[in-house]
Amino acid sequence: MTETALYPSFARAGLSFERGEGVWLTTTDGETYLDMMAGIAVNALGHGHPHLVGAVKAQVEKLWHVSNLYTVPEQETLARRLVETTFADRVFFTNSGAEALECAIKTARRHHFVAGRPERFRIITFEGAFHGRTLATLAAGGQAKYLEGFGPKVEGFDQVPFGDEAALRAAIGPDTAAILIEPIQGEGGVRPVPRAFLTLLRELCDENGLLLIFDEVQCGLGRTGHLYAYQGYGVEPDILASAKGIGGGFPLGACLATEDAAAGMTPGSHGTTYGGNLLAMAAGNAVLDVVLAPGFLESVRDRGLRLKQKLAAVVDLHPTIFSEVRGEGLLLGLKCVVPANDVVAAGRARRVLTIGAGDNVVRIIPALIVSDEEIEEAVARIEAAAHDLETAARSGDKGAAA
Ligand SMILES: *Cc1c(COP(=O)(O)O)cnc(C)c1O
Repeated sequence: MTETALYPSFARAGLSFERGEGVWLTTTDGETYLDMMAGIAVNALGHGHPHLVGAVKAQVEKLWHVSNLYTVPEQETLARRLVETTFADRVFFTNSGAEALECAIKTARRHHFVAGRPERFRIITFEGAFHGRTLATLAAGGQAKYLEGFGPKVEGFDQVPFGDEAALRAAIGPDTAAILIEPIQGEGGVRPVPRAFLTLLRELCDENGLLLIFDEVQCGLGRTGHLYAYQGYGVEPDILASAKGIGGGFPLGACLATEDAAAGMTPGSHGTTYGGNLLAMAAGNAVLDVVLAPGFLESVRDRGLRLKQKLAAVVDLHPTIFSEVRGEGLLLGLKCVVPANDVVAAGRARRVLTIGAGDNVVRIIPALIVSDEEIEEAVARIEAAAHDLETAARSGDKGAAA
Protein backbone atom coordinates (compact mmCIF):
# COMPACT_ATOMS: atom_id res chain seq x y z
CA MET A 1 0.00 0.00 0.00
CA THR A 2 1.59 3.24 -1.12
CA GLU A 3 0.83 6.27 0.95
CA THR A 4 0.69 9.55 -0.89
CA ALA A 5 -0.32 13.05 0.08
CA LEU A 6 -0.86 13.85 -3.60
CA TYR A 7 -4.08 13.70 -5.59
CA PRO A 8 -4.00 10.22 -7.07
CA SER A 9 -4.97 11.69 -10.45
CA PHE A 10 -1.87 10.43 -12.29
CA ALA A 11 -1.01 6.79 -12.97
CA ARG A 12 2.65 7.13 -12.05
CA ALA A 13 5.46 4.71 -12.82
CA GLY A 14 7.55 3.82 -9.77
CA LEU A 15 10.60 5.62 -11.15
CA SER A 16 12.18 8.80 -9.80
CA PHE A 17 14.94 10.75 -11.47
CA GLU A 18 17.62 12.77 -9.81
CA ARG A 19 19.84 14.07 -12.58
CA GLY A 20 19.83 14.51 -16.32
CA GLU A 21 22.19 15.37 -19.11
CA GLY A 22 21.02 15.75 -22.70
CA VAL A 23 18.71 12.80 -23.44
CA TRP A 24 20.00 10.77 -20.47
CA LEU A 25 18.28 10.56 -17.09
CA THR A 26 19.65 9.01 -13.91
CA THR A 27 17.29 7.58 -11.31
CA THR A 28 17.60 8.02 -7.56
CA ASP A 29 18.98 4.44 -7.60
CA GLY A 30 21.73 5.42 -10.04
CA GLU A 31 20.26 3.70 -13.11
CA THR A 32 20.48 5.43 -16.50
CA TYR A 33 17.58 5.79 -18.94
CA LEU A 34 17.53 7.05 -22.51
CA ASP A 35 14.82 9.71 -22.56
CA MET A 36 12.81 9.67 -25.78
CA MET A 37 9.80 11.55 -24.38
CA ALA A 38 11.48 14.72 -23.06
CA GLY A 39 8.98 15.44 -20.28
CA ILE A 40 6.14 15.24 -22.84
CA ALA A 41 7.88 17.28 -25.55
CA VAL A 42 8.91 19.94 -23.02
CA ASN A 43 12.67 19.57 -22.64
CA ALA A 44 13.41 20.85 -26.14
CA LEU A 45 17.12 21.23 -25.36
CA GLY A 46 17.31 18.08 -23.24
CA HIS A 47 18.31 18.07 -19.60
CA GLY A 48 20.91 20.43 -18.17
CA HIS A 49 21.66 22.27 -21.40
CA PRO A 50 24.55 24.62 -20.51
CA HIS A 51 23.14 27.66 -22.32
CA LEU A 52 19.70 27.27 -20.73
CA VAL A 53 21.13 26.55 -17.28
CA GLY A 54 23.46 29.54 -17.55
CA ALA A 55 20.70 31.93 -18.63
CA VAL A 56 18.29 30.89 -15.87
CA LYS A 57 21.08 30.91 -13.24
CA ALA A 58 22.08 34.44 -14.22
CA GLN A 59 18.46 35.58 -13.94
CA VAL A 60 17.97 33.83 -10.59
CA GLU A 61 20.76 36.00 -9.18
CA LYS A 62 19.23 39.23 -10.52
CA LEU A 63 15.44 39.25 -10.19
CA TRP A 64 12.66 36.65 -10.28
CA HIS A 65 9.35 38.41 -10.52
CA VAL A 66 8.03 41.95 -10.72
CA SER A 67 4.46 41.43 -12.10
CA ASN A 68 2.91 42.71 -15.27
CA LEU A 69 2.23 46.10 -13.71
CA TYR A 70 5.66 47.12 -14.99
CA THR A 71 7.42 47.07 -18.34
CA VAL A 72 9.43 43.88 -18.58
CA PRO A 73 12.15 44.32 -21.22
CA GLU A 74 12.82 40.57 -21.36
CA GLN A 75 9.17 40.04 -22.38
CA GLU A 76 9.53 42.65 -25.08
CA THR A 77 12.62 40.85 -26.36
CA LEU A 78 11.04 37.39 -26.48
CA ALA A 79 7.79 38.70 -27.95
CA ARG A 80 9.72 40.64 -30.61
CA ARG A 81 11.68 37.52 -31.57
CA LEU A 82 8.48 35.46 -31.87
CA VAL A 83 6.83 38.16 -33.95
CA GLU A 84 9.84 38.48 -36.24
CA THR A 85 9.94 34.73 -36.90
CA THR A 86 6.20 34.03 -37.30
CA PHE A 87 2.91 35.33 -38.75
CA ALA A 88 2.12 37.14 -35.49
CA ASP A 89 2.13 40.81 -34.45
CA ARG A 90 1.24 40.37 -30.76
CA VAL A 91 2.13 37.95 -27.98
CA PHE A 92 0.59 37.18 -24.57
CA PHE A 93 2.69 35.06 -22.19
CA THR A 94 1.18 32.39 -19.94
CA ASN A 95 2.44 29.61 -17.66
CA SER A 96 1.00 26.65 -19.51
CA GLY A 97 -0.51 25.34 -22.70
CA ALA A 98 -4.07 25.37 -21.41
CA GLU A 99 -3.73 29.04 -20.48
CA ALA A 100 -2.30 29.84 -23.91
CA LEU A 101 -5.43 28.17 -25.38
CA GLU A 102 -7.71 30.06 -22.98
CA CYS A 103 -6.10 33.26 -24.23
CA ALA A 104 -6.54 32.14 -27.84
CA ILE A 105 -10.24 31.40 -27.26
CA LYS A 106 -10.80 34.72 -25.47
CA THR A 107 -8.90 36.58 -28.21
CA ALA A 108 -11.11 35.05 -30.91
CA ARG A 109 -14.35 35.82 -29.08
CA ARG A 110 -13.32 39.40 -28.25
CA HIS A 111 -12.25 39.97 -31.86
CA HIS A 112 -15.85 39.47 -32.96
CA PHE A 113 -17.28 41.26 -29.93
CA VAL A 114 -15.43 44.52 -30.58
CA ALA A 115 -16.33 44.26 -34.27
CA GLY A 116 -20.01 44.35 -33.28
CA ARG A 117 -20.64 40.62 -33.67
CA PRO A 118 -21.05 39.41 -30.06
CA GLU A 119 -23.18 36.48 -31.24
CA ARG A 120 -20.09 34.96 -32.81
CA PHE A 121 -18.53 33.04 -29.94
CA ARG A 122 -18.67 29.39 -31.03
CA ILE A 123 -15.51 27.53 -31.92
CA ILE A 124 -15.27 24.45 -34.11
CA THR A 125 -12.86 21.74 -32.95
CA PHE A 126 -11.96 18.21 -34.10
CA GLU A 127 -12.38 14.74 -32.65
CA GLY A 128 -9.21 13.38 -31.09
CA ALA A 129 -8.07 16.89 -30.17
CA PHE A 130 -6.40 17.76 -26.90
CA HIS A 131 -6.27 21.38 -25.80
CA GLY A 132 -5.72 21.17 -22.03
CA ARG A 133 -7.46 20.47 -18.73
CA THR A 134 -9.14 23.75 -17.79
CA LEU A 135 -12.91 23.75 -18.09
CA ALA A 136 -12.97 25.60 -21.42
CA THR A 137 -10.10 23.68 -23.00
CA LEU A 138 -11.71 20.41 -21.92
CA ALA A 139 -14.87 21.50 -23.69
CA ALA A 140 -12.76 22.34 -26.73
CA GLY A 141 -11.08 18.92 -26.65
CA GLY A 142 -14.46 17.28 -26.24
CA GLN A 143 -13.16 13.99 -24.76
CA ALA A 144 -16.01 12.44 -22.78
CA LYS A 145 -13.65 10.65 -20.37
CA TYR A 146 -12.05 13.94 -19.29
CA LEU A 147 -15.36 15.84 -19.05
CA GLU A 148 -17.22 13.30 -16.93
CA GLY A 149 -18.25 14.52 -13.51
CA PHE A 150 -17.16 18.11 -13.94
CA GLY A 151 -20.56 19.65 -14.43
CA PRO A 152 -22.04 21.18 -17.56
CA LYS A 153 -19.58 21.40 -20.43
CA VAL A 154 -18.51 24.98 -21.14
CA GLU A 155 -20.77 26.31 -23.87
CA GLY A 156 -19.60 27.26 -27.33
CA PHE A 157 -17.60 24.37 -28.78
CA ASP A 158 -18.78 22.31 -31.74
CA GLN A 159 -16.78 19.21 -32.51
CA VAL A 160 -16.61 17.56 -35.93
CA PRO A 161 -14.90 14.30 -36.98
CA PHE A 162 -11.19 14.57 -37.86
CA GLY A 163 -10.81 15.50 -41.52
CA ASP A 164 -14.57 15.49 -42.27
CA GLU A 165 -15.14 18.32 -44.76
CA ALA A 166 -18.92 17.92 -45.00
CA ALA A 167 -19.38 17.95 -41.22
CA LEU A 168 -17.08 20.95 -40.98
CA ARG A 169 -19.05 22.94 -43.57
CA ALA A 170 -22.30 22.02 -41.86
CA ALA A 171 -20.95 23.14 -38.47
CA ILE A 172 -20.16 26.68 -39.65
CA GLY A 173 -23.02 28.96 -38.66
CA PRO A 174 -23.81 32.63 -38.02
CA ASP A 175 -22.50 32.30 -34.45
CA THR A 176 -19.17 30.66 -35.37
CA ALA A 177 -16.13 32.69 -34.30
CA ALA A 178 -13.21 30.42 -35.11
CA ILE A 179 -11.84 27.02 -36.03
CA LEU A 180 -9.33 25.49 -33.62
CA ILE A 181 -7.02 22.65 -34.65
CA GLU A 182 -3.67 21.03 -33.86
CA PRO A 183 -1.78 20.85 -37.19
CA ILE A 184 -0.50 17.53 -35.85
CA GLN A 185 -2.57 15.94 -33.10
CA GLY A 186 -0.24 14.97 -30.27
CA GLU A 187 -2.21 13.33 -27.46
CA GLY A 188 -4.66 12.10 -30.10
CA GLY A 189 -1.98 9.78 -31.47
CA VAL A 190 0.46 11.78 -33.63
CA ARG A 191 -2.07 12.35 -36.39
CA PRO A 192 -0.87 14.94 -38.93
CA VAL A 193 -3.61 16.95 -40.59
CA PRO A 194 -3.23 16.72 -44.39
CA ARG A 195 -1.96 19.95 -45.95
CA ALA A 196 -5.01 20.15 -48.23
CA PHE A 197 -7.29 20.10 -45.19
CA LEU A 198 -5.42 22.96 -43.48
CA THR A 199 -5.61 24.90 -46.73
CA LEU A 200 -9.35 24.27 -46.81
CA LEU A 201 -9.66 25.54 -43.24
CA ARG A 202 -7.84 28.74 -44.20
CA GLU A 203 -10.17 29.24 -47.17
CA LEU A 204 -13.30 28.55 -45.14
CA CYS A 205 -12.14 30.97 -42.44
CA ASP A 206 -11.49 33.68 -45.02
CA GLU A 207 -14.83 33.12 -46.78
CA ASN A 208 -16.83 33.18 -43.57
CA GLY A 209 -14.94 35.81 -41.57
CA LEU A 210 -13.71 33.24 -39.02
CA LEU A 211 -10.40 33.15 -37.22
CA LEU A 212 -8.11 30.17 -37.65
CA ILE A 213 -6.45 29.06 -34.39
CA PHE A 214 -3.58 26.57 -34.37
CA ASP A 215 -2.79 24.72 -31.17
CA GLU A 216 0.97 24.20 -31.53
CA VAL A 217 1.57 23.49 -27.86
CA GLN A 218 3.03 20.10 -28.75
CA CYS A 219 3.96 20.31 -32.44
CA GLY A 220 5.51 23.80 -32.24
CA LEU A 221 8.83 25.23 -31.11
CA GLY A 222 11.04 23.32 -33.50
CA ARG A 223 9.57 19.86 -32.98
CA THR A 224 8.75 19.30 -36.66
CA GLY A 225 11.97 20.93 -37.83
CA HIS A 226 10.20 24.24 -38.37
CA LEU A 227 9.91 26.83 -35.61
CA TYR A 228 6.16 26.21 -35.85
CA ALA A 229 4.61 23.32 -37.75
CA TYR A 230 2.38 25.65 -39.81
CA GLN A 231 5.54 27.01 -41.46
CA GLY A 232 6.18 23.56 -42.91
CA TYR A 233 2.60 23.39 -44.15
CA GLY A 234 2.61 26.90 -45.56
CA VAL A 235 -0.82 27.71 -44.05
CA GLU A 236 -0.93 30.64 -41.63
CA PRO A 237 -3.26 30.92 -38.66
CA ASP A 238 -4.63 34.13 -37.12
CA ILE A 239 -3.93 32.94 -33.59
CA LEU A 240 -1.50 30.30 -32.30
CA ALA A 241 -1.03 28.72 -28.89
CA SER A 242 2.50 27.69 -27.92
CA ALA A 243 3.88 26.09 -24.74
CA LYS A 244 5.70 22.86 -23.80
CA GLY A 245 9.09 23.23 -25.58
CA ILE A 246 9.07 27.04 -25.48
CA GLY A 247 10.40 27.16 -21.91
CA GLY A 248 12.69 24.14 -22.25
CA GLY A 249 11.33 22.82 -18.93
CA PHE A 250 10.44 26.11 -17.28
CA PRO A 251 6.64 26.66 -17.18
CA LEU A 252 5.93 28.99 -20.09
CA GLY A 253 3.26 29.38 -22.74
CA ALA A 254 2.41 32.03 -25.29
CA CYS A 255 -0.56 33.09 -27.35
CA LEU A 256 0.48 34.63 -30.67
CA ALA A 257 -1.94 36.64 -32.79
CA THR A 258 -2.13 39.03 -35.69
CA GLU A 259 -2.89 42.68 -34.93
CA ASP A 260 -6.38 42.22 -36.37
CA ALA A 261 -7.17 39.01 -34.47
CA ALA A 262 -6.01 40.58 -31.19
CA ALA A 263 -7.99 43.78 -31.77
CA GLY A 264 -10.29 43.09 -28.82
CA MET A 265 -7.55 42.52 -26.26
CA THR A 266 -7.63 46.05 -24.97
CA PRO A 267 -6.19 47.16 -21.60
CA GLY A 268 -7.83 45.27 -18.74
CA SER A 269 -9.38 42.61 -20.99
CA HIS A 270 -7.04 39.81 -19.90
CA GLY A 271 -4.35 39.23 -17.31
CA THR A 272 -2.06 36.88 -15.43
CA THR A 273 0.08 37.19 -12.32
CA TYR A 274 2.95 34.91 -13.30
CA GLY A 275 2.74 34.88 -17.09
CA GLY A 276 5.93 36.32 -18.59
CA ASN A 277 7.79 35.99 -15.28
CA LEU A 278 11.48 36.93 -15.53
CA LEU A 279 12.76 33.39 -14.99
CA ALA A 280 10.42 32.13 -17.71
CA MET A 281 11.64 34.88 -20.05
CA ALA A 282 15.27 33.95 -19.40
CA ALA A 283 14.43 30.34 -20.25
CA GLY A 284 12.36 31.23 -23.31
CA ASN A 285 15.00 33.54 -24.75
CA ALA A 286 17.72 30.94 -24.15
CA VAL A 287 15.69 28.21 -25.88
CA LEU A 288 15.20 30.48 -28.90
CA ASP A 289 18.95 31.29 -29.00
CA VAL A 290 19.58 27.61 -29.68
CA VAL A 291 16.55 26.74 -31.82
CA LEU A 292 16.99 29.78 -34.10
CA ALA A 293 20.75 29.30 -34.52
CA PRO A 294 21.63 28.68 -38.20
CA GLY A 295 21.17 25.05 -39.20
CA PHE A 296 19.44 23.90 -36.00
CA LEU A 297 15.93 23.39 -37.40
CA GLU A 298 17.36 21.79 -40.52
CA SER A 299 19.23 19.30 -38.35
CA VAL A 300 15.97 18.48 -36.52
CA ARG A 301 14.40 17.68 -39.90
CA ASP A 302 17.38 15.50 -40.90
CA ARG A 303 17.49 13.59 -37.65
CA GLY A 304 13.72 13.24 -37.57
CA LEU A 305 13.81 11.68 -41.01
CA ARG A 306 16.57 9.26 -40.04
CA LEU A 307 14.71 8.28 -36.86
CA LYS A 308 11.52 7.75 -38.84
CA GLN A 309 13.31 5.54 -41.39
CA LYS A 310 14.87 3.43 -38.66
CA LEU A 311 11.54 3.10 -36.87
CA ALA A 312 9.93 2.07 -40.17
CA ALA A 313 12.44 -0.77 -40.36
CA VAL A 314 11.49 -1.82 -36.81
CA VAL A 315 7.82 -1.82 -37.81
CA ASP A 316 8.62 -4.05 -40.81
CA LEU A 317 10.54 -6.50 -38.61
CA HIS A 318 7.88 -6.67 -35.88
CA PRO A 319 4.46 -6.70 -37.55
CA THR A 320 2.86 -8.42 -34.54
CA ILE A 321 3.85 -5.43 -32.37
CA PHE A 322 3.70 -2.38 -34.69
CA SER A 323 1.67 -1.47 -37.74
CA GLU A 324 2.89 1.99 -38.74
CA VAL A 325 5.22 4.90 -38.01
CA ARG A 326 3.89 8.41 -38.53
CA GLY A 327 4.58 12.04 -37.71
CA GLU A 328 6.99 14.81 -38.66
CA GLY A 329 10.46 15.73 -37.46
CA LEU A 330 10.91 14.60 -33.87
CA LEU A 331 7.17 14.21 -33.23
CA LEU A 332 6.83 10.56 -34.19
CA GLY A 333 4.34 7.86 -33.32
CA LEU A 334 4.39 4.08 -33.56
CA LYS A 335 0.93 2.70 -34.08
CA CYS A 336 0.79 -0.54 -32.11
CA VAL A 337 -0.90 -3.88 -32.64
CA VAL A 338 -0.47 -4.85 -28.97
CA PRO A 339 -1.54 -2.35 -26.28
CA ALA A 340 0.66 0.76 -26.56
CA ASN A 341 1.13 0.75 -22.78
CA ASP A 342 2.75 -2.71 -23.01
CA VAL A 343 5.26 -1.29 -25.48
CA VAL A 344 5.99 1.68 -23.21
CA ALA A 345 6.50 -0.71 -20.26
CA ALA A 346 8.72 -3.06 -22.31
CA GLY A 347 10.76 -0.03 -23.41
CA ARG A 348 11.13 1.08 -19.82
CA ALA A 349 12.47 -2.39 -18.94
CA ARG A 350 15.05 -1.82 -21.70
CA ARG A 351 15.81 1.62 -20.21
CA VAL A 352 14.25 3.73 -22.94
CA LEU A 353 11.47 6.17 -22.03
CA THR A 354 8.59 6.64 -24.47
CA ILE A 355 5.00 7.76 -23.93
CA GLY A 356 1.60 6.49 -25.00
CA ALA A 357 -1.01 8.51 -26.89
CA GLY A 358 -4.51 8.03 -28.23
CA ASP A 359 -5.26 5.64 -31.12
CA ASN A 360 -2.98 3.01 -29.49
CA VAL A 361 0.18 4.90 -30.41
CA VAL A 362 3.55 5.14 -28.68
CA ARG A 363 5.08 8.58 -29.06
CA ILE A 364 8.79 9.07 -29.70
CA ILE A 365 9.38 12.74 -28.88
CA PRO A 366 13.00 13.22 -27.78
CA ALA A 367 14.79 16.46 -27.05
CA LEU A 368 15.61 18.31 -30.26
CA ILE A 369 19.33 17.94 -29.51
CA VAL A 370 19.27 14.12 -29.73
CA SER A 371 22.36 12.88 -31.64
CA ASP A 372 22.55 10.27 -34.41
CA GLU A 373 24.25 7.86 -32.01
CA GLU A 374 21.49 8.35 -29.46
CA ILE A 375 18.87 7.77 -32.15
CA GLU A 376 20.66 4.56 -33.07
CA GLU A 377 20.71 3.47 -29.43
CA ALA A 378 17.05 4.37 -28.87
CA VAL A 379 15.94 2.39 -31.91
CA ALA A 380 18.02 -0.61 -30.76
CA ARG A 381 16.33 -0.48 -27.35
CA ILE A 382 12.84 -0.13 -28.85
CA GLU A 383 13.57 -3.06 -31.12
CA ALA A 384 14.80 -5.10 -28.13
CA ALA A 385 11.58 -4.22 -26.30
CA ALA A 386 9.52 -5.41 -29.30
CA HIS A 387 11.54 -8.64 -29.33
CA ASP A 388 10.87 -9.11 -25.60
CA LEU A 389 7.13 -8.69 -26.19
CA GLU A 390 7.19 -11.26 -29.01
CA THR A 391 9.10 -13.74 -26.88
CA ALA A 392 6.66 -13.26 -24.01
CA ALA A 393 3.69 -13.76 -26.36
CA ARG A 394 5.20 -17.00 -27.71
CA SER A 395 5.87 -18.46 -24.25
CA GLY A 396 2.39 -17.27 -23.23
CA ASP A 397 0.91 -19.22 -26.18
CA LYS A 398 2.89 -22.30 -25.18
CA GLY A 399 1.75 -21.89 -21.60
CA ALA A 400 -1.84 -21.72 -22.79
CA ALA A 401 -1.41 -24.82 -24.99
CA ALA A 402 0.23 -26.88 -22.20
C1 LIG B 1 -0.04 19.59 -23.58
C2 LIG B 1 -0.99 20.22 -24.50
C3 LIG B 1 -1.88 21.22 -24.06
C4 LIG B 1 -2.00 21.62 -22.61
O1 LIG B 1 -0.81 22.14 -22.10
P1 LIG B 1 -0.63 22.26 -20.50
O2 LIG B 1 0.69 22.96 -20.35
O3 LIG B 1 -0.63 20.87 -19.97
O4 LIG B 1 -1.77 23.05 -19.98
C5 LIG B 1 -2.69 21.82 -25.00
N1 LIG B 1 -2.63 21.46 -26.29
C6 LIG B 1 -1.79 20.52 -26.75
C7 LIG B 1 -1.75 20.20 -28.20
C8 LIG B 1 -0.96 19.84 -25.86
O5 LIG B 1 -0.15 18.89 -26.31
